[in-house]
Amino acid sequence: MAGTIAVVGAGAVGLTAAYDLARAGERVTVFERGSVGSGSTGRAAGVVYDAYAEDRDAKIGRRAIERFREFSGEGNFEFHDCPYCWFARDGDEKRATAIREQVPRMQTHRIDAALLESEELATLAPAMETEDVGAAAITYGAGWTEPATYTTMMAEKARAAGAEIRTNTPVSLCEDGVQAEGREEAFETVIVAAGAHTKRLVEAAGYAIAMKPYRVQALVLDTEIETPMGYDATAGFYFRPHPEGLLVGDGTEAVESDPDDWDREANEGFVDSARERASERFGLSEPAVERAWAGLCTATPDRDPLVGWLSADLYVATGWQGHGFMRAPAMGELIAREVRGDSGIEAFRPMRFSGNEEFSITEGMAVE
Ligand SMILES: Cc1cc2nc3c(=O)[nH]c(=O)nc-3n(C[C@H](O)[C@H](O)[C@H](O)COP(=O)(O)OP(=O)(O)OC[C@H]3O[C@@H](n4cnc5c(N)ncnc54)[C@H](O)[C@@H]3O)c2cc1C
Repeated sequence: MAGTIAVVGAGAVGLTAAYDLARAGERVTVFERGSVGSGSTGRAAGVVYDAYAEDRDAKIGRRAIERFREFSGEGNFEFHDCPYCWFARDGDEKRATAIREQVPRMQTHRIDAALLESEELATLAPAMETEDVGAAAITYGAGWTEPATYTTMMAEKARAAGAEIRTNTPVSLCEDGVQAEGREEAFETVIVAAGAHTKRLVEAAGYAIAMKPYRVQALVLDTEIETPMGYDATAGFYFRPHPEGLLVGDGTEAVESDPDDWDREANEGFVDSARERASERFGLSEPAVERAWAGLCTATPDRDPLVGWLSADLYVATGWQGHGFMRAPAMGELIAREVRGDSGIEAFRPMRFSGNEEFSITEGMAVE
């Protein structure tokens, strides 16, 4: 046997789980069809926060940030502490009410979040136009990082802990493990953390899961403004400081994408509208677009991930609804524990859905 645990996918989730399993003494082999971090993680914006109103999510968010801070400085990986604010515009009562309701719930879970008056927001974010802001909140448990540096660092740590990582090795599932490079390799446990490909992989092995890949987009504007990170809930776009300027994201396409056939370039319409909305918000005059791109996220019917056992030896971790990177350090740890015998999170069990339900895709950050 080549090892006892196979992890399919060297993204942020698979690699963190592999690292935590290897350092607990397990024999782990990671199979990656491309290079380390070449899936959604390598295209992510790197926005990280703990602003969750549900107790279990708040714990995951807090633990993830604790680990991001702990790993910061290893290899090229750096976690930049930076507050995250989110707001609804005047007249958007639905989202304003949601923000006012969320924050006290976050505070009961020890999240360092607060409601802000628009004048307070203006003081904290002087580069930002805030006159149209009706309700706002901030969390100090937040920061940003370059996701590709996380996967490189985590791959190093996993290798140092004894894991084998086989890149350029696409696999499919077979009865006793995985089929790689034309032959079957036996593993006691297979963890599928294959991002947008997860559904297709497990489907071929006879398991239906309620997940749909969908396309999102981001760009970097050339500007020198300084700002906290933020999300304009009314206009539906987020932003964060970036070494080359300002990263702006949105462009969610609420239709299912084919994980093997999708457009990696950003749409012109997205580029124009994201640039316009960010320019209005920050009073910028036609900033140049340094680069723009698209990537895949994964949706579920209730916006909670699918993390847990599909059978006695097949485990799955997907459906992050745009929040997979920021939760990876905590979820990888949790996956490793569950695979070693702990109980996982009931609300995330993949089998809570039949896999055949109809559902629509909603944007991950949406305030409702
Ligand atoms: C533009 C954009 C912005 C985003 N911004 C954020 C953000 O700011 N914060 C945040 O938390 N999340 C963000 N996300 C979401 C985030 O990228 C994902 O939730 C997260 O990266 C998922 O990690 P993963 O390890 O599950 O999947 P992935 O990183 O996709 O890793 C899965 C890996 O599996 C491999 N694989 C697939 N099939 C096979 C196979 N058959 N054999 C072997 N290997 C296989 C893939 O090549 C891939 O490398 C963003 C996504 C995009 C596209």
